[in-house]
Amino acid sequence: MKLKHVLLAFAAIVGASLSQADDFPNKPVTVVVPFAAGGPTDTVARLVAQAMSVNLKQTVLVENVGGAGGTVGAGRVARAPGDGYTLLLHHIGHSTAPSLYRKLSYDPVADFEPIGLITDVPMTFVARRDFQPKTMQELIAYVKANKDKVTYANAGIGSASHLCGMLFMTSIQTDLTTVPYKGTAPAMNDLLGSQVDFMCDQTTNTTSQIKGGKIKAYAVTTKTKVPSLPSLPTVDSTGLPGFEVAVWHGLYAPKGTPAAVVDRLAKALQAALQDPTVKQRFADLGTEPVALNRATPEALRSHLRHEIDKWSPIIKQAGIYAD
Ligand code: ASP
Repeated sequence: MKLKHVLLAFAAIVGASLSQADDFPNKPVTVVVPFAAGGPTDTVARLVAQAMSVNLKQTVLVENVGGAGGTVGAGRVARAPGDGYTLLLHHIGHSTAPSLYRKLSYDPVADFEPIGLITDVPMTFVARRDFQPKTMQELIAYVKANKDKVTYANAGIGSASHLCGMLFMTSIQTDLTTVPYKGTAPAMNDLLGSQVDFMCDQTTNTTSQIKGGKIKAYAVTTKTKVPSLPSLPTVDSTGLPGFEVAVWHGLYAPKGTPAAVVDRLAKALQAALQDPTVKQRFADLGTEPVALNRATPEALRSHLRHEIDKWSPIIKQAGIYAD
């Protein structure tokens, strides 16, 4: 091909992607949450989607596609058109899935365009209100002594609650019976109904139940205490030194989404994270938006790679896999 033709073809591609971005979005955008409605990831997504819709001047819908620890919803977005109208709001599980699943239908790095990080959420160890142990130390002792009858709820292999439970069981060298759900909203319902004993879940799902005295709470999984739950100690200081896990959330578009569209979405995300209502709700739920320089495609791309490298040896050592 002559140089002139190459330049014309290049100009046509750039022109097409610029005009696509110019009037983007000209129809509603859908954010897929790979967990059940009403849970912690869903809560973050609905707050952010609402604030993004103001900036984008377009409706931003949330669709819940739960199952298999978040991999069903992530797979759906990996196969969606790369036009910016179908996005994925996922959490730390996007980085652990490639180590946990022998057969994953998508590649978390190659099949997505990162848009930006959103928030880091602490987790909490919580139990049904009538569960016997009263403190984190008692929980550890009770679980070790009653491992055949205790049940642990999670949102499936690859979920944050699974990861936290896996770290807990490895730390106390005890295997428990796990009960998987499509998200921790239905798991919380069963905890409230005393059908399951305990779980580890984001403060964005547990805070109001803890404050309302509906469930028992033992400790937070971050190295420092959480201001909105001041009475809770850290797991690190109550029996499992070094124990630490927090759930970071990110927003992604499918691979091939034009850079200008990704940039537009990143700007809308950054505006959403500065929204006073979002900040206040996040604070009430034990979290805060990331610094704006982390709500960018580059920051999420490098964080995702870093997290994949961090969790891969830990998961290999734990010897946990799903098909
Ligand atoms: N908290 C869940 C998890 O364990 C997911 C959710 O329902 O948002 O990953």
